[in-house]
Amino acid sequence: MKVFKFGGASVKDAEVVKNLKKIVEQESESRLLIVISAMDKTTNWLERVVESFKANQDWKEPLQKVFDFHRYQLQQLIGNALSDANESIDKIQHYAFTFLEQDENSEFDFIYDQIVSLGEILSTKIIAAYLIKEGLDVTWTDARKLVHTDNSYRDAKVNWEETEKRINEFWESETSTFIITQGFIGGGEHKRMTTLGREGSDFSAAIFAYCLSAESVTIWKDVPGMLNADPKYFSNTSLLENISYREAIELSYYGASVIHPKTIKPLENKHIPLYVKSFKEPNEPGSVINDNTSEDSKIPSYIFQSDQVLISISSRDFSFIVEEHISDIFKCFATHRLKIQTMQNSAISFSVSVANQPKQIKALMEELKNDYKVLYNEGLELLTIRHFNKQIVDELIKGREVMLEQKTRHTMRILMRGQKH
Ligand code: ASP
Ligand code: MG
Repeated sequence: MKVFKFGGASVKDAEVVKNLKKIVEQESESRLLIVISAMDKTTNWLERVVESFKANQDWKEPLQKVFDFHRYQLQQLIGNALSDANESIDKIQHYAFTFLEQDENSEFDFIYDQIVSLGEILSTKIIAAYLIKEGLDVTWTDARKLVHTDNSYRDAKVNWEETEKRINEFWESETSTFIITQGFIGGGEHKRMTTLGREGSDFSAAIFAYCLSAESVTIWKDVPGMLNADPKYFSNTSLLENISYREAIELSYYGASVIHPKTIKPLENKHIPLYVKSFKEPNEPGSVINDNTSEDSKIPSYIFQSDQVLISISSRDFSFIVEEHISDIFKCFATHRLKIQTMQNSAISFSVSVANQPKQIKALMEELKNDYKVLYNEGLELLTIRHFNKQIVDELIKGREVMLEQKTRHTMRILMRGQKH
C-alpha cells in the first residue's frame, strides 16, 4: 500500500479537490491511504475563533463562516446528490457551538484542540463524499480512533505501540481501495481530541506509513518538490531532486517549511521513500527523500525566518555565567515551550534567539528576571544557509547589521537586524 498526503493548498477549494481525484485515480495498482489536511486556511480561521472566544470577543460569526465555507465547497462538489456529508457538517457545527457555549473555564490548549481539529474532519467528510459520488471505492475513517496520543494538547505525543496495533487492525478489516483519513489530529485519553502541532499532517502521513510498512509516501504540494529556497522570496530556485533522510532532517530542523520536521524519522526507520510532488504537475518527478546519501544535493539552500528575538541573559553581579546557570536557563525555555534557534555564550552573558511568541517570551522574561539581567532585541531575521559559500554569504548580508553568526562545516546561521524577506 501507499500513503498520499494532501495539504491545505492542495484541497483549497472544490476546483482543486477535483484535481485530487485525478491524481488518486491514476494509482490503480496499490491500495491508498489518503491523509488530508484542513481546506485552505481553515486551521488559522479556527485558531482565531478560539482566540476570540478566550478574549470574550465575537467568535460566533467567524465560526459560522467556517461552516458556510465548507457547505459551499460541498455543494460545488456534489450538487444535490444525496450524501450524509451534509448531515455531518450540521452535526459538527452543532458540536462546536454547544461546546464553546458550555465551556468557559477550560484551558486554552484544551479548547483549541477540541475546536481546531474539526477542520480536518470537515475537509475529509467533504472530499470522501465527492469521491464516493464520482464512483470511487472510498472509506472515510476517523484518525482520532487510530492515532492514539497522550493529552498534551497542541503538541500531543504519539503512543506508537497502541497506534500501530489500532492502525493494523483497522487496515486488515478494511477492503476499500481508497481510505481517507485526517492529518494533524489524534485521540487522547478519555476520548479527548488532540493535535500534533501546526502543519502536522505530514507527520500523520509518516505515522500511518510506518505502522503499515508502506511502500512509499507522497506529499502533494503546490511547489514542484523540495526547493533550495522559498519561491515566495526567491525568483531563482532550484529543485533538490535527491535528498537523504539526514539532509532532509537538517533542512526541516532549520526551518525549511516544505516538510514537517517530525516526518522523516519514522520513514527512515523503515526505509520508506518520501516523494514530494506538485499536484499541478503530477507527472513530474519532484523530489525523493531516501537512504541514498551519495546523490545528496550539495547546492546551497537558504532558509529565512523573520520575526526572531534575541534574548541576552547575564548575571546581575557580573559574575560568570556557568553551567548551573545555563541548565537553569534551559529549563526555563523548556517550561515556556520556546524552541531555541541559536545560542552563544560569553563570560558574563548567554544569548539565545527564538521565534517571536510574545506571550511565552513575556512569561519567560518575567521568570528569568528574578535571577538575571535580561536584554531583548526584536524584529530580527535569521538566515540559515546549508552548503554555504563565502560569495553568497557576502551578498546576502550586504548592508545588514549582523547580531550573531555561527558556522559549522555545512551550515551557516546569521541573525540580522531588520527584515528583508
Ligand atoms: N491543518 C493543519 C495546519 O494547518 C495541519 C497541516 O496542514 O498539516 O496546521
Ligand atoms: Mg494546513
